[in-house]
Amino acid sequence: MITPKIAIIGAGAVGSTAAYASAIKNISSEILLIDINERKEQGEVMDIGDGLCFVQTGCVKGADFKDARSADIIVITAGAPQKPGETRLDLVEKNKKILRSIFKSIGKLKKSAVVLIVANPVDVLTYEAQKITKLPKSQVFGSGTGLDTARLTFHVAKHFKVSPQDVDGYVLGEHGDSGFIAWSSISVGGVPVSQLKGFTKKDEKRIENKVRREAYEIINRKGATYYGIGLVIADILEAIVYDQHKVMPVTSRLKNWNGVSGICLGSPAVIGNSGIEKHWPLKLTAQEKKKLHKSAKVIKQYI
Ligand code: NAD
Repeated sequence: MITPKIAIIGAGAVGSTAAYASAIKNISSEILLIDINERKEQGEVMDIGDGLCFVQTGCVKGADFKDARSADIIVITAGAPQKPGETRLDLVEKNKKILRSIFKSIGKLKKSAVVLIVANPVDVLTYEAQKITKLPKSQVFGSGTGLDTARLTFHVAKHFKVSPQDVDGYVLGEHGDSGFIAWSSISVGGVPVSQLKGFTKKDEKRIENKVRREAYEIINRKGATYYGIGLVIADILEAIVYDQHKVMPVTSRLKNWNGVSGICLGSPAVIGNSGIEKHWPLKLTAQEKKKLHKSAKVIKQYI
């Protein structure tokens, strides 16, 4: 079987963990890792290469920016990460510059290329990448609230003593401080959370606080977050490569989605071979809509 070529730009904590997770999941026969810091890139490639005998992935190799021209999927993880106390939006100018320089160095992309933005602020950079690449907007999207949603499922599952895989629903809006949990979308084992005994408003608040603070708490303790996002990226890549038509909370250009248009923000969308296939028609409550519009307003200031 010939699988798509994946180029991961940025061999930092997030990029190399994404390459590692993708190699373990046998998502592609060829993964390129590209970084301006060549020594770091080589070190990561050598380290991951040591484990290839345990998986089916053929190769993870270092490459030049120009090699990404022939990639079917390009993942952007290059960028300054948050320092303790910094918000994701504080990174905007630095990371916009890095994003522009990356696409300039790569040059002309394949017409069918799918671009996945992970660097922060992901909602702003996704919009920027759509402008720079001029690819169809459905082919350029971001990891959005995928990580926030994964965190949510973990904490809800812990409360009910079930597996995170039994929890459905989404964190929506900005991947950042104005993002919010759409509680009306949350179910556990098929039962809406509002119908489950022993789950109070106090529990909602506690979990909301945990999900919102998680990145800050991890960064304060170990300097960066990468295992969770590495698996989120691998999961999105799997949906693209295997044309899974999977509904996932990603950042994409919205067109009257719960009244929001013209910006990139986290919402559930169907992901397949060519990127975003359609937006999922999740109906939010009036209060959730208000939160979505507030989040949209925040992002609009930065694009
Ligand atoms: P890191 O500092 O470990 O790695 C960043 C890498 O980018 C470095 O290796 C650096 O050399 C490289 N780089 C910088 N400029 C480059 C350029 N022009 N071309 C190629 N490579 C370049 O940081 P990290 O922890 O891997 O985080 C990377 C980004 O991912 C940050 O913006 C961070 O905020 C973001 N992030 C996003 C999520 C999410 O859910 N979307 C989660 C975690 C981190």
